[in-house]
Amino acid sequence: MQKFYVVGNLKMNMSSREEVSQYLTVLHREAGQKTYEHVLGIICPSFVYLAQFDTLPKGMKKGAQNLFPEKIGAYTGEISPVMLKDDGVEYVIVGHSERRRYANETDEMIREKALSALKYYMTPIVCIGETGGERQAGETENILASQLRTLFSDLSKLQAEKIIIAYEPLWAIGTDAVPTTEELFRVRVFLRKFFTEIFDAQTAERIAVLYGGSVKSSLLGPVSWEAEMNGVLAGRESLFPYELVKMMGLFEEEAKRKQNEG
Ligand code: PEP
Repeated sequence: MQKFYVVGNLKMNMSSREEVSQYLTVLHREAGQKTYEHVLGIICPSFVYLAQFDTLPKGMKKGAQNLFPEKIGAYTGEISPVMLKDDGVEYVIVGHSERRRYANETDEMIREKALSALKYYMTPIVCIGETGGERQAGETENILASQLRTLFSDLSKLQAEKIIIAYEPLWAIGTDAVPTTEELFRVRVFLRKFFTEIFDAQTAERIAVLYGGSVKSSLLGPVSWEAEMNGVLAGRESLFPYELVKMMGLFEEEAKRKQNEG
């Protein structure tokens, strides 16, 4: 059974070591000694505070919010995959819509970053999604297909199944608007079919797809397992350790429920 993922993107929030340390204290208190068989939490702080996340509660790993695809060299202001790996980072968000928007990242650049993460044994969490206008125009599937075609072209099945996709419609990020379960399920079915066509059905099942955009624990079922998503990527709610731990607990319960159903 695929694990469920709960990714917390802390973005450029928290502005001092002290604030980060308070966040971690509360996170440890909320998580206590809870263990998870079916869920992995991934917390992605700002680069500057990554080292403070070395010790996380059980079932949680640290991730980064971006990387530069080159290993070393004259790239002022950038962070290499080797640096991240050395710091204990195992997951890295790639192509978040805010980076596409503010840093002009293109699908080609995102592919290079994802490949670089794979090369250095990290798991890229690649964000895709359509704008509100594209959704209105009925273009969602075309947009996703074009983003994914660039990402997956010439990748082996083995490489492909190591990538996690985060479906994050831009109109749902930071807005409190969320797609209906039916809409999300349609996207899930479309992605499964898309991956089956370029790889095969088994690989398609192995590529985890998360949902992101105004996620909170009270909406978890409708935006995740009811739509056959493999987890969620949360922005604002990840700033509340209580919510992160609650989401992980709800996924664990759902996985156990499914397991008992056989
Ligand atoms: C995001 O930016 O990836 C995100 C999901 O943000 P929020 O949960 O705040 O909508």
